[in-house]
Amino acid sequence: MSEQGAAVVAAVAAVADRLESERSHLTDLDSAIGDADHGGNMARGWAAASEAVAELDDPEPAEVVKTTGKTLLSEVGGAAGPLYGGSLVFASPELADGITADSAVAFAETYLEKVQDRGDARVGDKTMVDALTPAVHTFKKSVEVDDMTPVEALAKAVAAAGRGVDYTVPIRASKGRASYLGWRSVGHQDPGATSTLYIMEELLDVATARLETPEQLPDDAESPTIPDGEVTED
Ligand code: ADP
Ligand code: MG
Repeated sequence: MSEQGAAVVAAVAAVADRLESERSHLTDLDSAIGDADHGGNMARGWAAASEAVAELDDPEPAEVVKTTGKTLLSEVGGAAGPLYGGSLVFASPELADGITADSAVAFAETYLEKVQDRGDARVGDKTMVDALTPAVHTFKKSVEVDDMTPVEALAKAVAAAGRGVDYTVPIRASKGRASYLGWRSVGHQDPGATSTLYIMEELLDVATARLETPEQLPDDAESPTIPDGEVTED
């Protein structure tokens, strides 16, 4: 299997595991301002996607992403299925020549555009767009202006997504089910912004483990310092 294809398959599996362990937390967030199905939607959809991509024969990254999106589209109803699934399918051709800094930026921008196209939400509407927009802009700037590696840029993007999630708490929802609550949505964290952050955190973890070369580790990486007082045994 192409190394990058295998890395994306591993990323989908990591996301599926994470969303399964966050299932009840995401459900709690969605029960406060929605219909309590976001945890189940995400866990079920990504588990199915993980199974589907594991069956692909020697896939390239674009095919893994497209299969993930198609599976989410068919498995997940509600707002999140088409938003996540349709946008992944639509953006997947950006990775047709593999994952590079440039193709990753193009993928992220196309994904965000499609989410905004489909959902018609803007920053401040208290949706996944509030996490995604700063993440994508930060990723692009980190690569193109600050000359960071894709993995360093992704770490910055994850931090930006985290601030985006926090930003959803005090604002009023103007899109999606939560908007039916009007001002009563204030004070609650958006479930879709939260799942977007979790997905990005897992992508970062897998990218860090798989894509950073050993040469980029610090010189003393082989000899960790032992904390004072710690006894080591053979
Ligand atoms: P549903 O709202 O249909 O029950 P989910 O509970 O799975 O679907 O997903 C809810 C999440 O979807 C919200 O927390 C929000 O982040 C996101 N969402 C809802 N509507 C939109 C929209 N129009 N644009 C972007 N994201 C949206
Ligand atoms: Mg819901």
